[in-house]
Amino acid sequence: MNSFEQQDVIVIGGGPAGLSAAKAAASKGLSVLLLEKSLEIGYPVHTSGGSWTKELTELGIPNKYIHPIFHLDVLSDNAKFTIDYTKSEICIIDIRGVYQHLAEEASLAGGVILTNTIAREPIYENGKLCGVKAVRNGKLVEYKAKMLIDASGFSSAIVRKMGIEKKNVSYGNGAEYEIITNSWQQDKTAIMLGSTFSPVGYAWVFPYGENRVRVGIGVVAPKSMANPLELLENYMNTNHEITRQLKPYSILEVHLGAVPNSGYIEKSYADNLMIVGDAAGQVLGIAGEGIRLALDIGRMAGETAANAIKEQDTSERFLKQYETLWKKKYGLSINLNHAMNEIITNYSDAKWDKVISIMKDVDPDIILALMKGNFDMKLVSMILTRNPGLFAYNAIKMLRKTISGK
Ligand SMILES: Cc1cc2nc3c(=O)[nH]c(=O)nc-3n(C[C@H](O)[C@H](O)[C@H](O)COP(=O)(O)OP(=O)(O)OC[C@H]3O[C@@H](n4cnc5c(N)ncnc54)[C@H](O)[C@@H]3O)c2cc1C
Repeated sequence: MNSFEQQDVIVIGGGPAGLSAAKAAASKGLSVLLLEKSLEIGYPVHTSGGSWTKELTELGIPNKYIHPIFHLDVLSDNAKFTIDYTKSEICIIDIRGVYQHLAEEASLAGGVILTNTIAREPIYENGKLCGVKAVRNGKLVEYKAKMLIDASGFSSAIVRKMGIEKKNVSYGNGAEYEIITNSWQQDKTAIMLGSTFSPVGYAWVFPYGENRVRVGIGVVAPKSMANPLELLENYMNTNHEITRQLKPYSILEVHLGAVPNSGYIEKSYADNLMIVGDAAGQVLGIAGEGIRLALDIGRMAGETAANAIKEQDTSERFLKQYETLWKKKYGLSINLNHAMNEIITNYSDAKWDKVISIMKDVDPDIILALMKGNFDMKLVSMILTRNPGLFAYNAIKMLRKTISGK
């Protein structure tokens, strides 16, 4: 017996996707129960928090959690370019702060969050999904609801048990140190490409205020099965121009995580079920960016849940509109990111040197749009008018062909 026997919606996972879905559904008056397996919302950290100032502000993230970046260094072994922005385009967020803020908002809207509660398997009634078995404080508990939202991240906790989700054939494995240093310039970020940093993938330096800096390395598996933590430890002990700018430092936290890199799953809904965030593969593969999408698509799932409950129809026929909504906004970008990533993960060090040298002369707005994965006609015409030479590159050629159909 528990005090949450029958809900409108159960959300599994208290990351950005789940919290955003819970907030949206609760704000529309639904009874919402969110189950999070960790002991705390937003901790331990499994991500880096790199994102975009304008987009996160539009998604309602308060300024105090957004650390603005004005300078970007992109390096390979033998090449480098720097962009100085006059307004903050890139930002690094305070992960724990943002997640706790969303949890607070979801709770104040009437949702209930239970930490230390691990969803284990789906429950069915007359063949229909109607809840989950979970372990809470070491005890087995059953929670029932009219519908479920699986936002459990890379583990896809419930849908995996239902046999729905596609396997994460390719995924990014990341390791990050959160360090304290007063040597690094706090409004500057760095991205490093090439095998000095990662055999397939990239390394980053993300400051987020008050002398805190996240330094990490991501590896695309199974193209490389190198251990990112080992790579990071080795790199931090080098005398590279970036590590020199970080020293001296103390390591306060180690963050580890995995992110899907196989494109989105075939179907993100079923009877009484929606799948959101990393669990649905809603990630822009080139940078492994998923927070912005999780926040936005989580909201779409929460709002669709509210409409479904209002219409008393939680069938997959009704919930299909959720998939239509998110694919309209992000479907093409996720697909193109995936395809371009397949190309660039085969780049040699010499190729990265060449690309970075070319990028020196590319319009900063184009670089920004490419990093954001804003793949649309506006980007194609911007490249055409400002840096047409970029179309010599396979990844950009493919982008133009897919978007313009020419
Ligand atoms: C190393 C690394 C660096 C990254 N850097 C960035 C970045 O800079 N910018 C960016 O935008 N994206 C980044 N990403 C990707 C980003 O973290 C994800 O796309 C994003 O967190 C997805 O949100 P989510 O809510 O779907 O999943 P998650 O954030 O993974 O949240 C899922 C939640 O579900 C919980 N959970 C799992 N199983 C269960 C269960 N059985 N029961 C209850 N709860 C459960 C987990 O504890 C977790 O809290 C990075 C990823 C990694 C691994």
